[in-house]
Amino acid sequence: MNIKILDTTLRDGEQTPGVSLTSKEKFRIATKLDEIGIDYIEAGSAITSEGERESIKEITKQGFNAEILSFSRPLNVDIDYCLHCDVDGVNLVVPTSDLHIKDKLKTTRDELLELSNNAVDYCKDHGLKVELSAEDASRSDFDFLKNVYVNAISHGADRICVCDTVGILTPDSSFELFNRLNDIDVPVACHCHNDFGLAVANTLSAIKGGASEIHTTINGIGERAGNTSFEECVVSIDRLFSQFTTNIKINEIYDVSKLVARLTGVYIQPNKAIVGENAFAHESGIHSDGIIKNSATYEPMTPELVGRKRKFVIGKHMGTHGLNSRLKELGLSVNDDQLQQICFDIKELADKGKTVTDVDLQVIADNVLEINHEDRIKLDEVTIVSGNKVMPTASVKITIDGEEILNAGVGLGPVDAAINAIKSLDVFKDIDLIEYHVDAITGGTDAFIDVIIKLQKEDKVVSARGTEADIINASVKAYIAGVNRLLRD
Ligand code: MN
Repeated sequence: MNIKILDTTLRDGEQTPGVSLTSKEKFRIATKLDEIGIDYIEAGSAITSEGERESIKEITKQGFNAEILSFSRPLNVDIDYCLHCDVDGVNLVVPTSDLHIKDKLKTTRDELLELSNNAVDYCKDHGLKVELSAEDASRSDFDFLKNVYVNAISHGADRICVCDTVGILTPDSSFELFNRLNDIDVPVACHCHNDFGLAVANTLSAIKGGASEIHTTINGIGERAGNTSFEECVVSIDRLFSQFTTNIKINEIYDVSKLVARLTGVYIQPNKAIVGENAFAHESGIHSDGIIKNSATYEPMTPELVGRKRKFVIGKHMGTHGLNSRLKELGLSVNDDQLQQICFDIKELADKGKTVTDVDLQVIADNVLEINHEDRIKLDEVTIVSGNKVMPTASVKITIDGEEILNAGVGLGPVDAAINAIKSLDVFKDIDLIEYHVDAITGGTDAFIDVIIKLQKEDKVVSARGTEADIINASVKAYIAGVNRLLRD
């Protein structure tokens, strides 16, 4: 059976505290959601603001394959705004628990039912598809809930949805609730929240219970503890449920996850399933050795399935097999004695509590292999002028292949100005800065600043690091170290 996905990253996901997307950003995400095969995109809530309506209109204009919906309360004013945005349908959200009916809406069950039916009529009269979502369904009186659904369907609702608004279902109660709705003859959807960390489990149970549509957000972002995570659900359906399928292009999941993380600024925890930094990373010697012999020993799926690559992490738990394959990736071949020595040096560094990066590995390997790289670029001086009333300006003195060069640049901030002063020189022209990450190592304003950057030249990517008390020095140092490595061959 094919399970349909309604993605609500642009509505419930955007309700994540601290997240607000521009119209352009929403459009980029919607384009990607359509590309990977999402069936229904909830593009926003048309009543919210003029800007929100502009964003929704940009999306509906495109003629995507996905059905485009807006959130709507069962009120004509909301539905009119949805119509104004040319959406295909509405996610008509009707609160059904007594708690919501009495305490939030200050109304009665009978009045609510009438409101719901009238709203469905109004939508259908105006040619909208209707998914009727019962808000707080999991805490509603079952007979009343069922009555709201049956009424909505008789007024023309196309689909219904059970919302576990505060995430109180368990895998058992979720299965039971959906099983009790099995005689409903339109598609039944499930909308879960992750307050107890059960959103994905409850969604999978809902499918077993009879749901044929699920609501998700990319990376599980959403209010409070978030919504059902798209990637975890889709991959679980694909790998663990042989009787169910989705229309999702699974090998593009990592791309969409990274896009949403970047645009929302909600970064992914490293141990998150499927898309976390460590989901396909191995450090332990026993595991790495097994993986190299047969990846199934310690991986339930290949990283390529979801568009990723396996990573052997260099650290104190590593064994020589994993280390050797990492060295080969860096283009270094070593004999047994050299391998043992590199392994020893890395463990010594890791024992001091230091994270061993690729750059560290390269330096250690170079030392053991007695390779001396003459750096082509050396930084002599950097001077910054910055403040609240001047454009940040940097001047640099650097030596490139023995020749001293002076240059200046401006930027949005002092770091940007310093990097611009350097990279406008000819030797840097094909090098792109693809990642820039800053951490303060200790708490105060006197903290050491750790800058990690990733640079790319054609298909070669290196990471480099600079740690200094001064953020500008740390950034420039990391940048030049990275460029020197890129220019080595
Ligand atoms: Mn929700």
